[in-house]
Amino acid sequence: MGWKTLDDMDLNGKRVLVRVDINVPVVDGVVTDSTRIRRIAPTVRDILSAGGRPILLAHFGRPGGERRENLSLNKLVPTLERAFETRVLFAADCVGTAAELAAESLQPGEVLLLENTRFHAAETKNDPELAAGMARLGDVFCNDAFSAAHRAHSSTEAIARLLPSCAGRLMQAELEALESALGAPKRPVTAVVGGAKVSTKLELLSNLIEKVDYLVIGGGMANTFLVAQGHHVGKSLAERIMKDTAAEILAKADSTGCKVILPTDIVVAEKFESHAPHLVLPADQCPENGLILDAGPDSVDVITGIFAQSQTVIWNGPLGAFELEPFDAATNAAALKAAALTRAGKLISVAGGGDTVAALNASGAAEDFTYISTAGGAFLEWMEGKTLPGVAALNGSRD
Ligand code: AMP
Repeated sequence: MGWKTLDDMDLNGKRVLVRVDINVPVVDGVVTDSTRIRRIAPTVRDILSAGGRPILLAHFGRPGGERRENLSLNKLVPTLERAFETRVLFAADCVGTAAELAAESLQPGEVLLLENTRFHAAETKNDPELAAGMARLGDVFCNDAFSAAHRAHSSTEAIARLLPSCAGRLMQAELEALESALGAPKRPVTAVVGGAKVSTKLELLSNLIEKVDYLVIGGGMANTFLVAQGHHVGKSLAERIMKDTAAEILAKADSTGCKVILPTDIVVAEKFESHAPHLVLPADQCPENGLILDAGPDSVDVITGIFAQSQTVIWNGPLGAFELEPFDAATNAAALKAAALTRAGKLISVAGGGDTVAALNASGAAEDFTYISTAGGAFLEWMEGKTLPGVAALNGSRD
């Protein structure tokens, strides 16, 4: 853990450039879900109460390096003011004279929001000159955008090499949770990997079998593993061309001592529809016209039994077609067990990535998980064992 937190920095009287992720949904100029903004409020408040002056750097959407009014950050000002309970000023560029003047004249207690960093094509090229222009606006850099940390951009990577840098509260919570789940986890550690395809999660599986004690595979990707074991999966979603790769993963897991858990029973329907008539069958008995849409109750017993023996669970991907009732049953039951063990203080549970957050929210289990990452791509790259440039730059930042 080579990075610093806000507590390690002297912020009094300093202008603090804070990289945030405020990509909130906006309909007709109105923010419809302010979750992302509320999550950065502790960072802003802590900077203000330490006597610092927060200057927010953020991207919004994909303007492709051009100024596009519909992707201006100006419309977020009222929502930011409500979340921070203070005055928020806006500068119409993230570099240049107007931004410098606005940063210079910022008063204690005020926050400055800079325009969308991606209005500059140089941003996504990690251009050092653009980063230097941004760095001129502040004395300290604070990165609170874990969800953008897998990209080496001027406002996430290059800038951290120019100023004394630290992690914001949200980034800190995320990194601490991830560290406790895979960096130095309490063992046994179990990974649950579900979702549609093996091909999108190959690197993730390869990394996990070297680090975890149990690997639970579910969802459509489990079907590919059943094929690799010589079973028929009927018309189920399965990547038959990935069959050999799946077999290699199973063999590698054997050699690293990671126990792979595949469904022993399956829930089979003929249609990919909510409430489609369905049967529970042994995993090797899927009929020719069958679609495997969920793991069966015996599989759930095995999975929850493993959770009960584990100290740590890390989860990405649903165990079945969770958008269709009742094929969300295995995901819900397993998630609720992980939540109950966590509530009882027996388990550290960390989940994230794409549909996982939606699946765990739908099950009602999310609240009791130790940590739910909403970071999507960054969370997955971290699970794949990759170095995230935005975090690495904090480690190597100037003192
Ligand atoms: P991913 O984005 O890879 O995490 O995949 C999530 C998607 O996989 C969800 O839309 C699920 O409905 C889908 N899924 C999970 N299990 C199955 C299954 N057995 N058959 C078809 N789709 C599935």
